[in-house]
Amino acid sequence: MPALTDMPRREALIGGDWVATLETLPVEAPARGEAITRIARGQAEEVDAAVRAAGDAFAGRLGDWSRWSARRRGEWLLAFATAIEADHARLAALECADTGKPLSQARGDIAACARYFRFYGGAADKLHGETIPFETDFAVMTWREPYGVCAQIIPWNYPAQIFGRCVAAALAAGNSVVLKPAEEACLSVLRLAELATRAGLPPGVLNVVPGLGREAGAALAAHPRIDHLSFTGSPETGTRVAKAAAEHHVPVTLELGGKSPQIVFADADLESALAAVVRGIIQNAGQTCSAGSRLLVQREVAEPLLARLAERFSALRCDAGEADADCGPLISARQKAGLEARLEAARADGIRVLAQGQLAEGAPAGGHFVVPQLLTDIPAGHAVLREELFGPVLAVQGFDDEAEALSLANATDFGLCAGIWTRDGGRQLRLAKGIRSGQVFVNDYGAAGGIELPFGGVGRSGHGREKGFEGLRSYTRLKTLAIRHG
Ligand code: NAD
Repeated sequence: MPALTDMPRREALIGGDWVATLETLPVEAPARGEAITRIARGQAEEVDAAVRAAGDAFAGRLGDWSRWSARRRGEWLLAFATAIEADHARLAALECADTGKPLSQARGDIAACARYFRFYGGAADKLHGETIPFETDFAVMTWREPYGVCAQIIPWNYPAQIFGRCVAAALAAGNSVVLKPAEEACLSVLRLAELATRAGLPPGVLNVVPGLGREAGAALAAHPRIDHLSFTGSPETGTRVAKAAAEHHVPVTLELGGKSPQIVFADADLESALAAVVRGIIQNAGQTCSAGSRLLVQREVAEPLLARLAERFSALRCDAGEADADCGPLISARQKAGLEARLEAARADGIRVLAQGQLAEGAPAGGHFVVPQLLTDIPAGHAVLREELFGPVLAVQGFDDEAEALSLANATDFGLCAGIWTRDGGRQLRLAKGIRSGQVFVNDYGAAGGIELPFGGVGRSGHGREKGFEGLRSYTRLKTLAIRHG
């Protein structure tokens, strides 16, 4: 792993300048529980300056962004993707130290971030409206216009990937951006912002204000001059920001996590299913909105499948990100304490830990590690089946037939992803239609993969879509033009 000798800047990026804030916040490496650097603590004042700069950039009062053609925006995004790739070792080292995730996953995240810019770079000049046949003396068309100032509040679990997902799409469509990264992990985002300014993005087009959620985040969501808000994080904070945005009739996209099922039928390729089930829950130590955190298994194969799953769980090891083990630590002492309390309550309710992983020998002391765990004997409707635990914890339930599988799959307020494992084509389609979620995978589980695939939730998982072309459209609004030509 490259040495972390050179930390990103401790300021906020506002109107093309790096601006010092009155106070700063410590940044902790979750694998050791020690501070490694500090970041800016933006407040309402910095957020206001950033929103004004973004408004000026969009309106053409600052820089020439408003005169860039779609093709020119696309070319810039493509060049920026190359700049990210050129810096990938350093970005991955930052992401690994800051989030604690295994280095190979951090590398994958940086590659995905670059791919977002490549995808939306290519798409920028391919987004267009339609013509509509109307009365014979009319010409009617729709235009896809950028909103203006896009506010983006992102979490700590995938800082670089979610930066790519939100910023690339918003800029491709011609918006300007004010981004509030998470206080727990934002070093890669600050480095990406630095690279963007060096790559010649005009001032004010991308503004980044680090700080606390209740300060900078709340100020951004409530700002009267934002035109669109996209938020990724917890349902509770999502509700709060959506209410604040509603005060000014600002449209919101909410991506709020999930409790996604992997459904394994007896006729499935069990070897492939097993591998995907393990991967789907330990990726980023289970701190993934699309984690496959519930396993529904058909009873006739439950015993042999669980025996093999238990073997795999027992072999899993947790270590610091740079050791590139199966799992890193959780992001913070708070997340660890919250998860441990829920697991203790689950055990008190008679839930059994069928198997668990271990801390690797020599794993650093002071890290926020929680070993992967396989839970069985879970009473129907228990909290571990309904709540997002956000850790490497897989809850197992058995089912007898397709109808029961569907009913269990939908027995949650969330609805983000689902995996269906069966060779029966009719059953694949019936379940895919019946499952209440934004994404369904058959004989695969693409947790958060596929930047080209529209992604988003149903119910408590949120609304609106990011990724793919749909994500690009969601950063535009439609204007209808009707011309009576006689
Ligand atoms: P959070 O939703 O509070 O934080 C996400 C982002 O929102 C951060 O940037 C934070 O600074 C900001 N924020 C916090 N309070 C705010 C406010 N009042 N106004 C505006 N912005 C605010 O999440 P958390 O506290 O970091 O984690 C708690 C739980 O949320 C986790 O255990 C997990 O279940 C869930 N979570 C989900 C995702 C996801 O990808 N869907 C990501 C992170 C956390």
